[in-house]
Amino acid sequence: MTNQNNILLVTGADGMVGSAIRRLDPPNTVYLGHKDLDLADFEKCKKVFGEIKPTRVIHLAAVVGGIGGNTIHSGEFFRQNVMINVNTLEAARLVGVKKLLSFMSTCIFPAQCDYPLNEKDLHKGPPHPSNFGYAYAKRMLEVQSSAYRKEWGCDFIVGIPTNIYGPNDYFNIEDGHVMPSLIHKIYLAKKNGTDFSVWGSGQPLREFVYVDDIAKLALWALNNYTEDSPIIFTSGNEISIKDLVGLVAKAMNFTGNIVYDSTKPDGQFRKPSDGSKLKKYYPDFVFTPIEDGIQKTVDWFLANYPNVRK
Ligand code: GDP
Repeated sequence: MTNQNNILLVTGADGMVGSAIRRLDPPNTVYLGHKDLDLADFEKCKKVFGEIKPTRVIHLAAVVGGIGGNTIHSGEFFRQNVMINVNTLEAARLVGVKKLLSFMSTCIFPAQCDYPLNEKDLHKGPPHPSNFGYAYAKRMLEVQSSAYRKEWGCDFIVGIPTNIYGPNDYFNIEDGHVMPSLIHKIYLAKKNGTDFSVWGSGQPLREFVYVDDIAKLALWALNNYTEDSPIIFTSGNEISIKDLVGLVAKAMNFTGNIVYDSTKPDGQFRKPSDGSKLKKYYPDFVFTPIEDGIQKTVDWFLANYPNVRK
């Protein structure tokens, strides 16, 4: 099938990464959010792909929750994500998409895994029980992409970002990830003149990547990455939660009291991921310094409060 339009289709376009791709404004791009199309419905999916006729796809759509939602809705999250992914990749194949990038997350790696997490270890053991259904559904993206490459030569690739943060994140203080939760909690502590309470000891280490970097890497990968095996998107820089707290407090001009709540869990001490494949392919990529990314996120949060997802 020939296609002169060279259209890029982004699914899941209303989420955090989709919004970052919109900010980069690549030419000839069609954005689809959940309200535009339910990808779990194959007939509709096929029809819309047939109308748009994309040559390239960035597939971001997924059904995801925090640790609570992922545990309770293990079956539903498995079913929805498998359907969304199977349908999207099949519809893409049927209209002759030349390149498709889909996304996983480092949280779907085996619970017992060597560190740093490496692309080759993705299937070497069951995921953490708290995201059983979600993780196995997501792993199938890699399986489907690889099987399609083998049978039909589809150039379908998979990116695995580490913890993404930035504008349009989910800022719920009970159920959100650490970065958006800290920002929202400092906001409330300032507003109410209360202590700012951080979970755990502050000692654990985590990696973070600013969402605009992920958008840039997604567009780069479409043009430059063709391996069967996934590629991890990380700078490889770890930061302690305590240092992160200091940076967020500084970005928000918070001078109040910071307390560490030892009744809350630390989680894993560290779970670094291996950025060496990305480094090999794209040695000159410059990640947004975390201070800058936090400041941009904080500015966005303050400009958009209370209409942020929370
Ligand atoms: P994890 O990487 O899967 O453990 O996910 P999180 O982003 O939820 O937590 C990362 C680390 O931040 C853990 O050590 C938490 O104890 C710590 N942390 C400190 N304060 C908070 C908070 O307010 N919310 C969350 N989610 N984590 C926090």
